[in-house]
Amino acid sequence: MLQKTSHFMRQANLINGEWVQADSGKTVDVINPATGLKIGTVPYATGVETRRAIEAANEAFKSFRKTSALERSKLLRKLHDAIMDNQDALAELLTMEQGKSLTEAKGEVGSSAAYVLWFAEEARRTYGDVVPSPWADRRVLVTKEPVGVIAAITPWNFPSSMLARKIGPAIAAGCTSVVKPATQTPYSGLAWGALCEEVGIPKGVVNVVTGSAAQIGDELCTNPLVKKITFTGSTEVGKMLIAKSASTVKKVSMELGGNAPFLVFNDADIDRAVEGAIAAKFRNSGQTCVCTNRFFAQAGIYDKFVEKLAEASNKLKVGHGLDAGVQQGPLIDEKAVEKVEEFIADATANGGKIVAGGKRHALGGSFFEPTVIANATPDMKFMKEEIFGPIAPVFKFETEEEAVALANDTEFGLACYFYTGDLGRAFRVMEGLKYGMVGVNEGIITTPEAPFGGVKESGLGREGGHQGIEDYLDTKYVCIGGL
Ligand code: ADP
Repeated sequence: MLQKTSHFMRQANLINGEWVQADSGKTVDVINPATGLKIGTVPYATGVETRRAIEAANEAFKSFRKTSALERSKLLRKLHDAIMDNQDALAELLTMEQGKSLTEAKGEVGSSAAYVLWFAEEARRTYGDVVPSPWADRRVLVTKEPVGVIAAITPWNFPSSMLARKIGPAIAAGCTSVVKPATQTPYSGLAWGALCEEVGIPKGVVNVVTGSAAQIGDELCTNPLVKKITFTGSTEVGKMLIAKSASTVKKVSMELGGNAPFLVFNDADIDRAVEGAIAAKFRNSGQTCVCTNRFFAQAGIYDKFVEKLAEASNKLKVGHGLDAGVQQGPLIDEKAVEKVEEFIADATANGGKIVAGGKRHALGGSFFEPTVIANATPDMKFMKEEIFGPIAPVFKFETEEEAVALANDTEFGLACYFYTGDLGRAFRVMEGLKYGMVGVNEGIITTPEAPFGGVKESGLGREGGHQGIEDYLDTKYVCIGGL
């Protein structure tokens, strides 16, 4: 296995076109969550190496900002092709460090390529404006310019595609980057460095550092050369990064936690809702920020929905991601399993009924059974907190108003889903839900063409869509006088 992926498995950091170790020589082990075994190491970089990477990015920006949009578009197309040419090897690397099934890993790598292609196209459309002037002798222009050096910090649940949404628009806009992948899953992030190098993206344009999250993060947030921080991860860390970035007034884009509701009305197509529910809940073993956290089923179909959901979740094949037919990999680590157990203990102590799964999987390690809990009530922990694991709690509701109020009763506002066969209800509920993204009769909605992002404490900014490049651009107003 390592044979095939070894070309992309870089056990070094990429700074200014050089693959280097930390000054201290210290490293961190990378563990395969399916086996508990060490795959390799990565450098334990701190503020010193990060500063060097920022300076390299700043130097590279001087020439990269002058490249034409067409040149950058072509580079991104090459990057897209390189990702697709190596989809299998990149997917295997991703499964080994993250645990998800190979099918999902290939899907993620494909999604990364799709984002890069989208931004290759958007690179050429960063239009400005020529505004009708209020003065006869002056002209009013508005142009768009790259913000400069950007810093990207990404999580372990989608170590490849979360970087695609950041490196893609950065290159498209003409920005240079310092990237910090999650410590648990650094190889997919380092592979971006290898891919960028391979397709001829100039040295210093993309730098990748691994190591101390706190020290790297501090340098990225406080160094005045960095103009923008883009982060995907927990709301807790996101808030800290926003606060730290305030000292140098950086732009910030934040993709933070979610608490997605999934509403099923009496008039819904139940089989379709169950199919959507399985996809929206158990993708990546429940470890995505858009995974359903709370199911709300209307009284008339509650029992039927719970029964069918339990039946479908019992059929999910749990196992090592690289094994054929596996749909559910392990959770990322032991801590994640303990958290899932806490949610279940809290629910059962308060009247919740386990109708599928409910315990650690016979495979051991951090494998967990896909779980469905009936009789969920708003005083249970998962009403407010993000589960990030394979538990599907199902609440019962009577009226549309009650369902919308329950769905909105959270400080989060990322994704939500609902199933109905009634057109009027579809519009009323869609407009009533305070979320950045809504799936109506659909459980999987992410695509590069659409703006991904949240409201409330789920974040700031959008990734993908034509909006996805805006955060990487500054607007400049130019007044030309004396005509
Ligand atoms: P998750 O719950 O998904 O692990 P985190 O917010 O803890 O989310 O991690 C997301 C990313 O943020 C990872 O790359 C992690 O290393 C990084 N991170 C964690 N703590 C800090 C910090 N203090 N400063 C900067 N980055 C951090």
